[in-house]
Amino acid sequence: MQFEFTPRNCWEVYNSAKDKRKIEDLAARYLNFLSRCKTERETTDYVCQILRQAGFGEDPKGSKILRPLQGKAVFAARRGRKNPGQGAHLIFAHTDTPRLDLKQRPLQEQSSVGQAKTHYYGGIRKYQWFARPLALHGVIVKENGESLTLALGEKPGEPVFTIADLLPHLAAKQMDQPLRAAFEAEKMNLVLGHRPLEAPSRQRRKKEDESKDKIKAGLLNLLHERYGLVEEDLYSAELQAVPAGPALEVGLDSSLIGGFGQDDRVNVFLALEALTQSLAQEPPHTQILVFLDKEEIGSEGSTGAKSRFFEYCMQELLRHWSPETPLADLMLNSRGLSADVHPASDPDWPDLHEKLNAALLGYGPCFCKFTGSRGKYEANDAHAEYVAWLRGLLNKAGIPWQMAELGKVDQGGGGTVAMHFAKYGMNIIDFGPTVLSMHSPFELTSKADLYATCLAFKTFLNAG
Ligand code: MN
Ligand code: MN
Repeated sequence: MQFEFTPRNCWEVYNSAKDKRKIEDLAARYLNFLSRCKTERETTDYVCQILRQAGFGEDPKGSKILRPLQGKAVFAARRGRKNPGQGAHLIFAHTDTPRLDLKQRPLQEQSSVGQAKTHYYGGIRKYQWFARPLALHGVIVKENGESLTLALGEKPGEPVFTIADLLPHLAAKQMDQPLRAAFEAEKMNLVLGHRPLEAPSRQRRKKEDESKDKIKAGLLNLLHERYGLVEEDLYSAELQAVPAGPALEVGLDSSLIGGFGQDDRVNVFLALEALTQSLAQEPPHTQILVFLDKEEIGSEGSTGAKSRFFEYCMQELLRHWSPETPLADLMLNSRGLSADVHPASDPDWPDLHEKLNAALLGYGPCFCKFTGSRGKYEANDAHAEYVAWLRGLLNKAGIPWQMAELGKVDQGGGGTVAMHFAKYGMNIIDFGPTVLSMHSPFELTSKADLYATCLAFKTFLNAG
């Protein structure tokens, strides 16, 4: 009998030929998902498409219900054998990712370059976004309600966009500035083009306009020719600049996956996989997936975790499945996972983690009993009884897991959506795979962690 707890490396646990094949199959599906879903809308579309194929639908009386909201958030529930009053097993994850949004009036021309002004969304490190190929994703809604969906800069051979960086020769002053001051948000302008409007089209412009902003005029002309747009249409648009190109395998051994938006699309993908792989058997408890928007900016708005959307969906579920069950019974008896990524111990910054309570890449999904900052402020502190039940569940299934804090105490901090659902009285804890380069345009995860996390989600959803 061993008394000491030793975390296990997933690569060493899942080393049979069968496991290795399953790890690669899952990673291949994930690479495809991650390359395709770079916005909350694209992610929600993907989720709805997969769930509709699996028999989920709008019929509230059906046993598999699907409720998308504004194309950015989605609630999906599958009825279990037990009465809903005995509680559901829920996985929460978020669809949004830190990025650069286009401003509502984006177009400008400076020094013979046509640009789109941006306004960053969520916690980015600004310097990571300069001098790299970017794509433009989003929707533009016209006055008549017609909506145009764009994903420009992704197809091979298609032009990309970029934010020009300062040359080192003229960066002497910037080099001495603190990081916070050296990269200004108002200088994060996306290069859109630089060809002036051609002469025949110029003749349609008024004489006094002739001398100014010919490049911006050229861009507007192009937008009109290609998409029938006028400048005002951009005011009712949601356009995001995101890293261009597909997610990739990383390392000589192809053991890692690199790509944009793994926080938190990795958990959206894995929870969805876990649910769809479980459809053959009737589960004991009702299984629910809730994918929300706006986590990165405080869970606000109608599609964020602080909205009443989740509550409305739970009320509707009871109305059709078990009208005599009080909402409080369902909520108080439910078990939740706030499925979000956890920072992996950084090989170059080990001093920022407290070794005993740090997570390692490849050692499986990580429990974080509490998040928050300083003296556990704004933390959902999961109950010890719930942690015990969960570790028992994973141990019985032989799935590696680890227990960690975000970093050293007083070194920073952060939060997830856990507290917004804990307020309903359910048991909930933060749980998910670890990530290196978190919140960067190229985040890293371990293929073996993805596999272990998917197994953990399946075990949780189907637990008695
Ligand atoms: Mn997250
Ligand atoms: Mn985040």
